[in-house]
Amino acid sequence: LDIVMPGMDGYEVCRLIKQDERLANVPVIFTTGLDASEDEARGLSSGAIDYVTKPIRPEILRHRVGNHLEMKRMRDRLADLAMTDALTGLGNRRRLEELLRCESRRLMRSGNWLSVMMLDIDFFKSVNDNWGHPAGDRVLKQFAQRLQEKTRHTDTLARIGGEEFLVLLRNVSLEQALVVAEGVRQHIESSSFELGNQHRQPLTASIGVCAVTPETVEVSELFARADQALYQAKSQGRN
Ligand code: GH3
Ligand code: MG
Ligand code: MG
Repeated sequence: LDIVMPGMDGYEVCRLIKQDERLANVPVIFTTGLDASEDEARGLSSGAIDYVTKPIRPEILRHRVGNHLEMKRMRDRLADLAMTDALTGLGNRRRLEELLRCESRRLMRSGNWLSVMMLDIDFFKSVNDNWGHPAGDRVLKQFAQRLQEKTRHTDTLARIGGEEFLVLLRNVSLEQALVVAEGVRQHIESSSFELGNQHRQPLTASIGVCAVTPETVEVSELFARADQALYQAKSQGRN
């Protein structure tokens, strides 16, 4: 980014970029003829990652840009890891909260439905108790796969606790979400799970479903409601 420009100067452009959620993570490097310390300090304090004064030395600039790109890649990778469940590769609670934050704003604008499925494997503790923790981990991975098989690419899947999963369904009404949930329930019930040493075991899951449009419920209430519905499913016989 240059600094001296007609209309709006580079400091202001940089400040606006850093304010915009979609652009804030784009590293900005100033290349300018202004070589006073105050200018450089002002450039860096407006959010730029680096400040290079003219005349530009192409070989040096290339290295600097290379370093910044490397750092950017690492930051992006760390941010992604921080929002991924290491066992199943699904999102984790952080990813979900992040998504919901963006999603609720979009929802407010569009007036569309957002549905949530909260799932909990039934009697999962007995898998660990009878077959050991590694077998339990295998089941969790398979469970995540089964979920993926019955949901769409646009749905967001997350493991939010030990054997608790959550699926965010965009533009899906309550009736449609119930159909998806029933599909998942049947798929889980009818497919046995591999525990190791050729042992397989059937399992079931209980599911709580909740849907909102902006007019009906606060998105922040989604989880609590789905959780209540899940608790009800558990107390009324599971599966
Ligand atoms: P319910 O039908 O009421 O849900 O019973 P449950 O046994 O599934 O539920 P409970 O909450 O009693 O047990 C959950 C178990 O999940 C307890 C814990 O040992 C196990 N667990 C939690 N996280 C992990 C994990 O990452 N790996 C494995 N293998 N087990 C886990
Ligand atoms: Mg549980
Ligand atoms: Mg359970």
